[in-house]
Amino acid sequence: MTSSSIHPPQRFLFGPGPTQVAPSVYTAMSQTIVSHLDPYFFEVSEGIQEMLRAVFGTSNKLTFSISGTGSGGMETAISSLVEQGTRVCVFANGFFCDRMTEMAKRQGGNVVRLEKPWGEVFTDAEAKEFIEREKPQVVMFVQAETSTGAFQQGTGICKAAHDAGALVIGDVVTSLGAMPVKVDETGIDIAYSCTQKGLSCVPGLSPITVSPRAAEFIEARKTPNRSWYFDLKLLNDYYKVSHRYHHTASATLFYGLHEALSLIKQEGVEQRWARHREMHHEFVKGVEKLGMRMHVPVEHRIVNLNTPVVPEGVDDAKVRKILLDEHGIEIMGGFGPLAGKVFRIGVMGPLATSEHVQKFLKVFADALERSRTAATVTK
Ligand SMILES: *Cc1c(COP(=O)(O)O)cnc(C)c1O
Repeated sequence: MTSSSIHPPQRFLFGPGPTQVAPSVYTAMSQTIVSHLDPYFFEVSEGIQEMLRAVFGTSNKLTFSISGTGSGGMETAISSLVEQGTRVCVFANGFFCDRMTEMAKRQGGNVVRLEKPWGEVFTDAEAKEFIEREKPQVVMFVQAETSTGAFQQGTGICKAAHDAGALVIGDVVTSLGAMPVKVDETGIDIAYSCTQKGLSCVPGLSPITVSPRAAEFIEARKTPNRSWYFDLKLLNDYYKVSHRYHHTASATLFYGLHEALSLIKQEGVEQRWARHREMHHEFVKGVEKLGMRMHVPVEHRIVNLNTPVVPEGVDDAKVRKILLDEHGIEIMGGFGPLAGKVFRIGVMGPLATSEHVQKFLKVFADALERSRTAATVTK
């Protein structure tokens, strides 16, 4: 695979996403395209749907990928369920819940929020109390908050929502492919994700799955979705029913996702979750040895995205610069209330191996040491 005009630097993507992509995914993406109406395209698309059900943990018929990034999936879910005046409850404990809030408001939703500091999660009792008090029609939460490193499965939220007759939108953007999302068991009505985080593919597609209850609601709703592009009725017709033109889906991205999902299938979904969990433990052990502590309590951590606290007297931007300039390693810092306070370090996909984790910890230790501000250097 050579090109005369593009020569990207070699990177090790240890950030929150995009994450490292396996070589065979790039090979798949270099194959010649077919049209978005070609029988081969729909064959690939069917294969993707089947494999997506396994990683989502669902038997939902309505499961496919939206042409757009994770935010496209978010917009699809929200524009499908939120109409003018719809009462929406948001569990707000990070950046992406804020984005969901904004989108729901733009759809005309009447949004109420239960807020927690970044890095915390909600107890089942808090969820129940909030939902019983506010009587929403739609409930939204983020399963893996990439801005904080906190994970909440969402089972209690979904139970309380269903008891109140509400539908649940769950953001599983970072958890899908690396942690057990368990859509059906958890009770999420619409879950969406992206391709460039836990699935270790390139950005550009947004897998989504819709429960029969939510599908029924969408079928019965009186007003059309305000978004034409993200209208699930039209998309369902294109992908699954008539195969008539809706938009020109990218065969290249579909090839890439098909290969990335095939790699997950080969490894085994459960084995892949276990590998991420083990590498998370190895990573945490390593950073704790360096004297660092984790921002999120042990029982609520996303395993594929770690948020160690920046040690006192360390310049986090300098650490990131050393890693990128000298080792081609990308990690990210915190932002919003966590700016300068945490690192965001993804250990996922091809980089979630002992060899990569140990190599990373070695250069990370060196970069931390060299990034102490003068006042704290002890001689
Ligand atoms: C990355 C992310 C998104 C947005 O995905 P894009 O692909 O950047 O549009 C949404 N929610 C969460 C939790 C994310 O981590």
